[in-house]
Amino acid sequence: MSSRTRRISQDSQENQIIEERIVKVNGDVAIKSYTKGRFLGKGGFAKVYEFLSLDTKQVFAAKVIPKASLSKARARQKLMSEIKIHRSLHHTNIVRFEHFFEDDENVYILLELCANQTLNELMRRRKRLTEIEAQCYLSQTISALKYLHEHRVIHRDIKLGNLFLTDKMELKLGDFGLATKLEFDGERKRTICGTPNYIAPEVLDGKQGHSYEVDVWSLGVLAYTLLVGKPPFETSDVKTTYRRIKMNAYAFPDHVSVSDEAKSLISMMLTNDPAMRPTLDQVLEQSFFTKNVIPKLMQAGTLAIPPSSS
Ligand code: ADP
Repeated sequence: MSSRTRRISQDSQENQIIEERIVKVNGDVAIKSYTKGRFLGKGGFAKVYEFLSLDTKQVFAAKVIPKASLSKARARQKLMSEIKIHRSLHHTNIVRFEHFFEDDENVYILLELCANQTLNELMRRRKRLTEIEAQCYLSQTISALKYLHEHRVIHRDIKLGNLFLTDKMELKLGDFGLATKLEFDGERKRTICGTPNYIAPEVLDGKQGHSYEVDVWSLGVLAYTLLVGKPPFETSDVKTTYRRIKMNAYAFPDHVSVSDEAKSLISMMLTNDPAMRPTLDQVLEQSFFTKNVIPKLMQAGTLAIPPSSS
């Protein structure tokens, strides 16, 4: 079955009807319609909107990528790789890939809607999180990462803005734009990618190549950021940040109380030699994750105020 699409333009951007035109093998044409709703956010090339399926009444987050931004072969390949990897993944802590189609102007990627935004917005409102919240969000991130690594996928861009929250407050890892799938287990990747604050030292070094351990490093940066309120190696310019990462120069500020268990876990994950970094299973065995019962989900009230300590 081949698929071609057409778009009916209306005056206003909102409530615009997007039509997916599906040409079946026998030549019949089926049309699926969506209403474009609320603007949700903006990425590199993509704008993300709520899309309502007029057939099923389901609401999705739709990544709309203008074809004009895909004129370079590299950009097209990158998007195709993102789609190929993301559509093969099925896990409760990974943003569900629903469907993709195109029309003359855009490529549309329909994703599970995460109505409570990302940990980025949460941190802006809350500044820093309690240890219970960090345990809850980090263990869900680790579930997603374990699934990815078991399927030979490295995410390579673990950061606040790629960790989404659903209306039920379930954490979902998204954005597979920098992800890569290894051909075999011992393969080392060489492409420099990632987000400055979260990038692992072996990626900056570039000589030895990198693998699954880069996600554990970023998880360490994430853990620090959730508990302290700012990333460990942050400075006002990227070069200095990179220098700090290479020298492992970070500290816990005196004015924030962080438990010894959390500090010990973070320092293990932020080990510069990737071979010495713990695996995800070893991370989960640390007392930070075993010393108390971790709630499966946080309550929606914690989007604005800390959970009560009782
Ligand atoms: P890019 O890959 O181009 O960086 P993102 O995937 O980061 O784009 O999406 C950009 C923004 O769109 C996000 O920061 C978020 O605000 C919003 N967004 C993306 N995916 C979803 C989703 N599944 N549910 C709700 N909002 C989303």
